[in-house]
Amino acid sequence: MLNIDRETDEKKIKKVETTATINNDKDFFLRRAIQVAKRSAQQGNLPYGCVLVDEQGNVLLEGENSVITDNDVLAHAEVNLLHIASKRYAPEFLKNCTIYTSDEPCPMCASAIFWSGVGQLVFGLSQARFFAEFGRKNSHITFDLSCRELLKFSGRQVKIAGPLLEHEVLCLHRRT
Ligand SMILES: [Zn+2]
Repeated sequence: MLNIDRETDEKKIKKVETTATINNDKDFFLRRAIQVAKRSAQQGNLPYGCVLVDEQGNVLLEGENSVITDNDVLAHAEVNLLHIASKRYAPEFLKNCTIYTSDEPCPMCASAIFWSGVGQLVFGLSQARFFAEFGRKNSHITFDLSCRELLKFSGRQVKIAGPLLEHEVLCLHRRT
């Protein structure tokens, strides 16, 4: 179980002990984001998760979705994480960090990544694959604009890698 202080702004974020690692493998950190997504689901939220990793491969923050427990439709995993990251770290530092997300960020979260100054994005399941698998019936979760399409209009470049490990993320969504 997580020891999360429900009374603080950081309740959606598990502060992670800094563990230096030289493992910069994308799959390694994506799988960690997928674990966070599983934890979000276990907490009664939607199965989305992300992690923020610095240049040395330290996991600085984990972000859970908290849309349901916070009754906040804006409480996507990335936004929750980036609120903390932007208070804690300068954009000059964040430009050398990477956010790994279980799923391709929605337009709100892709914009938040831009505004935060985070330099790199690696995502798992693409929006297109998600819609192909689960349909587009729920208009509340359908915003048909890929993060690449959106961020090509941004004033600074956010480097994007993905989709990756789509099967693993799909398995998670099918179970939840
Ligand atoms: Zn989002």
